[in-house]
Amino acid sequence: MQPTGYDYRYGNFINGRFCEPGADFMTSTNPAATHLGISSFAASTEKDVNEAVGAAREAYAGWSSLPMGARADLLEKWAALADARIDELGRLVTESMGKPLAEGKGDILFANLSLRYFAAQARQAQGEVFGSAIAGKKTYTLRRPRGVVGVISPWNFPAMIPIGWQAAPSLIYGNTVVIKPSEDSPELTMEYTKLAEEAGFPRGVINVVLGDGPGAGQPLALHPDVNVVLFTGSSAVGKKLRQLVSDPSYTDKLFFGELGGKNGIIISSRGDYETALKAAWKSSVLTTNQRCVSASKIVVDRKLLPHFAEDLADLLADTSVGYGGKEGVVMGPLINQDALDKYERHLAYGEESWSTTFLPGGILRDTEEQRGGNFVSATLGLAEFDWKRDADPRTASRILTEEAFSPVITLIPYDDGVREAVSILNATDYGLASAIVTNDVNEVGVFESEAPGVKYINGATVAAEIHLPFVGEKGSNIGGIPGNAGIVSAVTHTTPVSVFSLPNPTLAVSESMSERIRKMAEKRS
Ligand code: NAD
Repeated sequence: MQPTGYDYRYGNFINGRFCEPGADFMTSTNPAATHLGISSFAASTEKDVNEAVGAAREAYAGWSSLPMGARADLLEKWAALADARIDELGRLVTESMGKPLAEGKGDILFANLSLRYFAAQARQAQGEVFGSAIAGKKTYTLRRPRGVVGVISPWNFPAMIPIGWQAAPSLIYGNTVVIKPSEDSPELTMEYTKLAEEAGFPRGVINVVLGDGPGAGQPLALHPDVNVVLFTGSSAVGKKLRQLVSDPSYTDKLFFGELGGKNGIIISSRGDYETALKAAWKSSVLTTNQRCVSASKIVVDRKLLPHFAEDLADLLADTSVGYGGKEGVVMGPLINQDALDKYERHLAYGEESWSTTFLPGGILRDTEEQRGGNFVSATLGLAEFDWKRDADPRTASRILTEEAFSPVITLIPYDDGVREAVSILNATDYGLASAIVTNDVNEVGVFESEAPGVKYINGATVAAEIHLPFVGEKGSNIGGIPGNAGIVSAVTHTTPVSVFSLPNPTLAVSESMSERIRKMAEKRS
């Protein structure tokens, strides 16, 4: 198979209508062969966002008053239509953002599973009933949608994040949505939108505005009629948006951010060596280290260091890099020129901070295929952790604290037990994911209670299931939505409703007042 171009042309999808792209448009290209276009699409402005939010607001009353089961039927139909096109959609993931075909198909599987996971919530309890100290009173909780949800998503899981993770829970609970997908891979959102249209979603319930962050994302987040913003992307943009939406004039807006990471894995001498190599390798290379949970710090017991460094360097050197549609390729291209620049910046940080380079890296330009795309090799170096400088993220080496989003991997030896290793992992403003390879329960205990973010024991950092909590800490998260399992609380109000059998003891009044009221009622009956 060869890298493929497409000539998709997309306008916004507003109020059930696919608009023309208009004169101002942007383009996306295949990162494995950047001369191949994937799509051209509208470069939306505040005016388009206003229209889309207006449509979502108008559709809200009808959508939120449908029975949950009717909304679930539509989500299920949507998933079934996407299942029927899984190979084609999975391929489009690969062509548009570069990950290997199996991962591309995985993105579609995950999105569809998530649509079904949320559809199934229509058949589950939606509240609780509480007892009371007051005779004849019971209180139950009612979930109500919050209104219009603005979804702003990244490019690395172009189906799973905007559709499965953010739109699906919003929709099942009766919210309407406006999605602003990433300008680097907007295609999957648009292809899913076509399927939503086919499934029969009422107009205005799902709207899409295309374009970049400042032009379309920011006006969406700041629109006064958007009640919830679900943002997934970099910490820099997330923090900026959080600051903007904290303006007190927004009385009914919640902001949630799933942000970046600087993740690590601890390799203990008390762990299984094969597991250690597999977990470190997978955490480093899957999606070319462009997952929010990918690891770039490998904190290794110094006793293991010489042979572990040699073996991991061998595995990384033999990792096949290329077009994701080619059999056996593990690392596809980086997404774009900015990502290549960032990779090179991190190579320079490595030169500054590494005492040994086990595997040099670089942008690959040897073959015609390589020159046509954004291909890089994995690189591995050794940095000694300097407690005076590196414990404080403000003074630490940047190779230990900044997200690389590319396979620039640093080995950091530790001498003094797992607590020291965990402190090394914690020495960053991020807190998204961490892992340890060990068979020692005491080390597991320390890791469980002190390591940052989503935790993996004897596994790679790069694994998630849709029904599990998934939430970062510190600079990796704003608002604390624990992934799919907990997003419901972000997109709904939980309202307590109290019901009294009569006579209601909390309405007791003095005898004379009671008599007076009784007479009033008698007169009116
Ligand atoms: P990004 O922050 O550049 O962009 C994310 C989205 O925000 C895009 O749709 C973009 O157009 C939009 N945007 C950019 N500037 C904006 C602005 N001023 N106002 C409103 N919207 C704006 O991130 P990216 O490069 O698309 O994705 C990679 C980042 O996402 C990495 O940092 C990665 O760790 C993170 N990520 C986090 C998770 C998670 O669950 N924590 C998952 C995937 C990716």
